[in-house]
Amino acid sequence: MTYAILDCYTDEPAGLGVPPYLGTYPRYIYGYLKKQFPNEKIYYFTIDDLRLWKKWGMKDPNENLPKSKTTNITVYNLTKHHQKIAEILSDETTEIIVILGVHVPGKYLSAMPGTLKEVTPLIADLPCKKVLTGPAIFGTQLFGGQFTERIDKTVFETRAYNFNFAEIASLSLEGTEIVEQIPWMKMLEIETGKGCNVGKCSFCTEPLKSKVLYRN
Ligand code: SF4
Repeated sequence: MTYAILDCYTDEPAGLGVPPYLGTYPRYIYGYLKKQFPNEKIYYFTIDDLRLWKKWGMKDPNENLPKSKTTNITVYNLTKHHQKIAEILSDETTEIIVILGVHVPGKYLSAMPGTLKEVTPLIADLPCKKVLTGPAIFGTQLFGGQFTERIDKTVFETRAYNFNFAEIASLSLEGTEIVEQIPWMKMLEIETGKGCNVGKCSFCTEPLKSKVLYRN
């Protein structure tokens, strides 16, 4: 088995996973896979890598960009293995785990989160199992005040990786290896609590995702 984590970025009240931030989802899932399947390969890709392959034919619009032109932030955050993404996802990967979901949309300066509408057709033809996780499985939409996106169940299996803090204590450490595949200067989110019994904010799924737990 070869696993690929596809980070389409996450933004929720409880955590930011839009570059230069690395959310907790990719790090924990990487750690979980490494622990469960120590002999298997685990690749980390971003939606930017996928766009570069599928939308730009691997021609990076930011390469040799004159100072007078604006950086294309949709393909700005390229990972270590981006040049081999076609080969890895088409020939090697047996399961791709797509992390996606924006609940508190903001204005992003150096990245653009992927949506289900965008990513679903880009990966539908890959010959591997496709798992959707992250805030998206509770509903997602890139712009506030709109209906949530529909999950295409013919493409995705949904899976919640809901680890408790005892599990996170080891998975987060195992998962730090993921940074070796991320060339840009990053900030790693840490988690001190889960769930919420304070607010009843209509846009937020934190109370649905977990009972209230705090790190020791
Ligand atoms: S429901 Fe709780 S976690 Fe979510 S935004 Fe409101 S106060 Fe914050």
